[in-house]
Amino acid sequence: KFNTNLGQHILKNPLVAQGIVDKAQIRPSDVVLEVGPGTGNLTVRILEQAKKVIAVEMDPRMAAELTKRVHGTPQQKKLEILLGDFMKTELPYFDICISNTPYQISSPLVFKLLNQPRPPRVSILMFQREFALRLLARPGDALYCRLSANVQMWANVTHIMKVGKNNFRPPPQVESSVVRIEIKNPRPNIDFNEWDGLLRICFVRKNKTIAAGFKSSNVIEILEKNYKTYLATTNTMIDDNANMTDVVKQKIETVLTETEFSDKRASKLDQTDFLKLLYAFHQVGIHFA
Ligand code: SAM
Repeated sequence: KFNTNLGQHILKNPLVAQGIVDKAQIRPSDVVLEVGPGTGNLTVRILEQAKKVIAVEMDPRMAAELTKRVHGTPQQKKLEILLGDFMKTELPYFDICISNTPYQISSPLVFKLLNQPRPPRVSILMFQREFALRLLARPGDALYCRLSANVQMWANVTHIMKVGKNNFRPPPQVESSVVRIEIKNPRPNIDFNEWDGLLRICFVRKNKTIAAGFKSSNVIEILEKNYKTYLATTNTMIDDNANMTDVVKQKIETVLTETEFSDKRASKLDQTDFLKLLYAFHQVGIHFA
């Protein structure tokens, strides 16, 4: 009956379902977005508290079941179902996002929320335990990774509750966790792609030194290309005799030495460290996007 390729694990424990919805602290004026409502165990509880629910569901059979469930109830007119893939759906404004997320889209879903022009006030999201722990991990934690450093730049993430696999039908392979994501508002004044570009290089091997990450010819090639674009857009004269690759390598070395990050490892660096590094590179015209 259930399509596990679509991550269809229905939350069957009513206490957990109510707990998730209550954690969102929905106001009567709120529009709530739900990703993957399935048969509607969260949806009917959200409908009791919100002004409107927009539910994006990919499986037409699930959408039909949900439609049937609310049909003829006072909540019916508050529910709008958008049939389709959440990742391809253009979203209207919403105040809150609640999702028992199909695990295949965990990471893209988080970034889609982070990049909304008007971010939601709060998101309450269920993930596989390990993904949730990555979102929460701090420098020095075993699970600290690019995802942790990236998401924590744009949002505050907190752990809400653990949910064991037996609360679902059919039970998934792994345990789950519910997290709260509060997107920083106003948004930090940093270019998303610059930040992500720097983190990608630093976290290729998070336990190797930062200098090692910048030695890769691939990385140097990209930074050289970006540097040329930067020179062109700033109308800077180029010395024809200069070997651009050497110029870029030299700049990298200078920045890493002066900031003293050469021998540090990404697994131990926090947001302030990466910001210092990004600014130092920008000072010498090196860009990551
Ligand atoms: N919210 C329900 C619950 O808690 O019982 C169902 C959760 S189930 C883990 C995930 C739901 O997301 C399924 O109904 C599945 O069909 C739907 N889904 C999977 N991928 C999706 C996508 N890309 N866009 C929208 N819905 C999706």
